[in-house]
Amino acid sequence: MPTQKKIAMLWPFLLGLVILTLIITIRPAQPVAATEPTPTPAVTDGSKPHSGSSEEPCRLEQGAECEFPRRDDVASATLIGPRTNPTIGAQGVSTYTLISITFDRDMDFNTINNDTFQVSRGDSRLNGVIRYIEVSRIAVFYPDAPLEPDSAYTARVTTGIRDRSGEPLAEDIVWSFITRSHKSPLSDQLSVAENEISAADMNIYFGDLHSHTGYSDGVGTPADAFATARANGIDFFAVTDHGFLLTGAEWQDILDQANAATINGAFVALRGFEFTHAKGHLNVFDTNILVRGNDPNYANLDDFYNWLVNQPTALAQFNHPLQDQMHDWNFNNFAYRPAADQKIVLRELTNATQFFLSLDAGWHLGTLSNTDTHWPNWGCCPRMGVVAPALTKQAILDGLRAKRTFFVSPDDPNLALVMTANGYWMGSAVPNTATLNFVITAYDPAPKGQPLRLVLYNNGVRIASTTLSSANSYRWAPTTPGQLGHYYYAEAYYDGWNFPAYSSPIWVERPPMAEAGPAQTVAPGMTVTLDGSGSWDPDGDALAYKWSQTSGTGVNLIGADGARPTFIAPATLGDLQFRLTVVDTGNLTGSAETRVTVTDRPVLAIRKNAPATAEPGESIIYTLTVTNYGVNDASDVVVTDAIPTGATYVSGGTLMPGNIVSWTLPRLAANGEVAEVSFVVTADQGLANIDYGATCSDCVPAIGDEIIFTNANKYYLPIIMMRHN
Ligand SMILES: [Zn+2]
Ligand SMILES: [Zn+2]
Repeated sequence: MPTQKKIAMLWPFLLGLVILTLIITIRPAQPVAATEPTPTPAVTDGSKPHSGSSEEPCRLEQGAECEFPRRDDVASATLIGPRTNPTIGAQGVSTYTLISITFDRDMDFNTINNDTFQVSRGDSRLNGVIRYIEVSRIAVFYPDAPLEPDSAYTARVTTGIRDRSGEPLAEDIVWSFITRSHKSPLSDQLSVAENEISAADMNIYFGDLHSHTGYSDGVGTPADAFATARANGIDFFAVTDHGFLLTGAEWQDILDQANAATINGAFVALRGFEFTHAKGHLNVFDTNILVRGNDPNYANLDDFYNWLVNQPTALAQFNHPLQDQMHDWNFNNFAYRPAADQKIVLRELTNATQFFLSLDAGWHLGTLSNTDTHWPNWGCCPRMGVVAPALTKQAILDGLRAKRTFFVSPDDPNLALVMTANGYWMGSAVPNTATLNFVITAYDPAPKGQPLRLVLYNNGVRIASTTLSSANSYRWAPTTPGQLGHYYYAEAYYDGWNFPAYSSPIWVERPPMAEAGPAQTVAPGMTVTLDGSGSWDPDGDALAYKWSQTSGTGVNLIGADGARPTFIAPATLGDLQFRLTVVDTGNLTGSAETRVTVTDRPVLAIRKNAPATAEPGESIIYTLTVTNYGVNDASDVVVTDAIPTGATYVSGGTLMPGNIVSWTLPRLAANGEVAEVSFVVTADQGLANIDYGATCSDCVPAIGDEIIFTNANKYYLPIIMMRHN
């Protein structure tokens, strides 16, 4: 029997069940006491048209005020009726998918087995394991082997399945679907990106980064959530319970259960926590520790940002931003914090106002949405996609960090939208440029037989649009002048949709400037510090640092992701070359190199000490400390110090022409011998002194690099103040 006919026969049954469900409103028990400051969920139909015209979708356009569906719209709507994975008649299904059906009432798990749940390809039945997850009422078929690409499969559950009260299914439920080829849909559309990872190596994955379980104010366990999400056909899924409702043991449990549920190439389970703060909620991923939104240490959101900045691998997302009479959840109107911009990389799409507020404030945020489900329908409805080279935890997290994300239309969870400009992926900044060459691609495994509309926006203003005839994949390459400081994003929709799909933005910015510090000459065994702290970003972005060694004897760089890494100079003499790359929040980079020469000449170092304060006329003693770090002795080391302006020489060393005090040390032994010299001055004012050093005929000289201050004594100040009284 052809698939089409089976589906047609199924419709009256499905419709009947949906109506029945609507009448008796069977739903899982309301989650327990939500301590989260969240209003009671209103049960609405996620597909109902928004308040505007039914022709025009809800737009991310300057001046538009439409609302995008929030968690309750999406998550509760999909609780109704039996739901299958893959969906009935689905095309382009991944070969690693599980086959599942979610029932609308509690079933007798003893009746769900290899006799009553079958999957076949043509005439041959697949071997597999069947499992029923009670909390989510989902029966899952785990094939023993991955499905074949480009193949048709049929799944059937029979009337042998009974519910808890012994009532059998009214009729067999049969559904068919077709798998996709192994080739990435991106490989046809994008040439190799000139600046980034080759497009041919990238794929598209669908997921959900926001959900709750019984560990906070949802139901079930994280293991239930991950198993159900995977059975519902989603590629990656995060459990993000409220931090303030989690114990330390639960926090660890979520990670253990996520790791157990992750199967590279098939499903990635992530642990995060929701930081539930009075000024807004954030999801945080990839940290070892969690912090709580009700902790007085984070009463000020900036204290939380400071914490986040210090978590080396953390990435975060602004959740459901909202500002109305009941909610103050938009992070102090998205007050911009450059350092936090490095870590907070995504923002859930709730409405156009908050979308523009966040971007116009200066944040670099990828666009996505999540279900934020508190129901046991985890993975039911992907709301975001990510472009990544593989379905592994690392690749997904890196894709999120790079903001290679798109917002999935609630009207069709299968449409993928991807954008590049000048070879940079969406989520990146493009260096300030006269011309932007966009490549906007969309993929639809099940084309609608009607044209797809694509629109390009500059800072929320429509600048170009096109209409492409129905196909599996769409490609549009508009060109536009680049405007410094602007952001660009793409929109895709079919007529009749309520909500388009959106790409993450691409920004036009200036790249950061790297400063790798001056060349240095050092002795073997010395601790050497590289200094990239002079690096800066003309757009005011915070910078990430990446140091690497490009030549010379290999050394172990400590703190290679910081501004000032250190290493121990090797015993081998010669030049070492290091490269610093600084990365701004739009992933633009700047690089610079510096050289360190390891020598067997004596290497001198000098420090100077002075009292911090002195009374007028009091003796000020300057002490200079000289060290030979070299592997050979230094002879006839000349130490000099210029008497600072405002000081009068009293004694010590030899006073030379030009107001310079000098000493000659006959010998300073190798490997760290230290010598101290000193002299005395007086002054009536504060002193600043930089001009001091040490050298010898075959030495690497030392030049004082710290300004030494002596301030006029504090006892002097009250006298001045008294005059003013
Ligand atoms: Zn929340
Ligand atoms: Zn939440």
